[in-house]
Amino acid sequence: MTPSTEIPTTLDARALREDFPILRRQVDGHPLVYLDSAATSQKPRAVIEAEVDFLTNANAAVHRGAHTLAAEATELFEDARATVAGFVGADAEQIVWTSGATAGLNLVAYAIGNATLGRGAPASARFALRPGDEIVLTEIEHHANLVPWQELAARTGAVLRHIPVHDDGRLDLDAAASVIGERTRIVAFTHVSNVLGIVNPVAELVALARRVGAVTVLDACQSAPHLALDLPDLGVDLAVFSGHKMLGPYGIGGLYGRAEILEALPPFLTGGSMITRVGLDSSEYLPPPQRFEAGTQPVSQAIGLAAAVRYLGGVGMGAVHAHERALGARLLDGLRGIDGVRILGDAPGVERVGLAAFDVDGVHAHDVGQFLDSRGIAVRVGHHCAAPLHARFGLTASVRASAALYNTEDDVDVFLDALADVRPFFG
Ligand code: PLP
Repeated sequence: MTPSTEIPTTLDARALREDFPILRRQVDGHPLVYLDSAATSQKPRAVIEAEVDFLTNANAAVHRGAHTLAAEATELFEDARATVAGFVGADAEQIVWTSGATAGLNLVAYAIGNATLGRGAPASARFALRPGDEIVLTEIEHHANLVPWQELAARTGAVLRHIPVHDDGRLDLDAAASVIGERTRIVAFTHVSNVLGIVNPVAELVALARRVGAVTVLDACQSAPHLALDLPDLGVDLAVFSGHKMLGPYGIGGLYGRAEILEALPPFLTGGSMITRVGLDSSEYLPPPQRFEAGTQPVSQAIGLAAAVRYLGGVGMGAVHAHERALGARLLDGLRGIDGVRILGDAPGVERVGLAAFDVDGVHAHDVGQFLDSRGIAVRVGHHCAAPLHARFGLTASVRASAALYNTEDDVDVFLDALADVRPFFG
């Protein structure tokens, strides 16, 4: 199917599958049922071809060189930035290329650490942390949104605090109102948990953070591929997303920032491409986004990511969300009906994406994963880089099935049928 530029409200997953060559694969003699898109999404031909086309016809170093190819490559690279920015409701200069969400979160944490050391323009002082200042996270974060802040706290003497999660997977907003207090300087949280699949109340958390003047950082990894996202409208100061989870290539992601925030942040990585002047003892830096893009950038990947968001936009994010929400509801209904299955975060009536993680009583998650794989079904097993959340639910591992726009109801049903055989098989 060729995606159109209209915004349809429904999508035809069977037709879309034709655009994803890998979905024709067999695994162990079974048609592949790919339910691991929260780990990484499959790529449509448009993305693969965009990268190949760039490397075949326009490859050159960007932002330098006076030759035709260099000019063409620079134009494609910057067009890609504008396209990706538009996909999240932002302006091009509000998007910094990163190698992924982990890199984006580290960039922010290290930049704030540099501000604490007194680096950057005078405006950077607003980010400087004093011992005892508080960084508020939640119990449900991916390790990528925990460890960089732990390192920042260790370097600066700041203190980490965590918003707890209810047994049903919703964040405890009453507790959030007391955890976020006068000493809070940063509030970093995920839009959608990669384990619970629940869409978190961004507006409420942003309001609590604003009340005390804290900087907000949103991990949009698991929302950008599944919901229509308008980051400025959400009101967050900074946000990260990951290309490989949204039909794009590996090694590319974005950091979004409100203009005044990016303007005031000192750089993290330094070197070529981010400077206006270099002397032997000191240098001056470009404005954002280039200030945060030291060294050679992932150019073909950025062009691939632009093709990915054009594809998603062509299908229509409203349609994507509606389709995946329906798959998610079918998944949850089916899981609830299988003996011995406990869903992590089965809160009723909440907005969700098409993802569910669960425990199978008496069978290790890895055994469940292998059993499903023997039927051609790909799911994720382990702690999904959210070990503290698993500990909160008394687990070290779970099984996670996650859908994307190319999954069908049949995929969900094949998975549920196979899962129903797991406990009888393992006795
Ligand atoms: N945050 C969440 C919620 C994720 O699911 C992931 C990936 O698993 C990450 C962050 C890390 O993203 P990346 O692979 O782009 O570093």
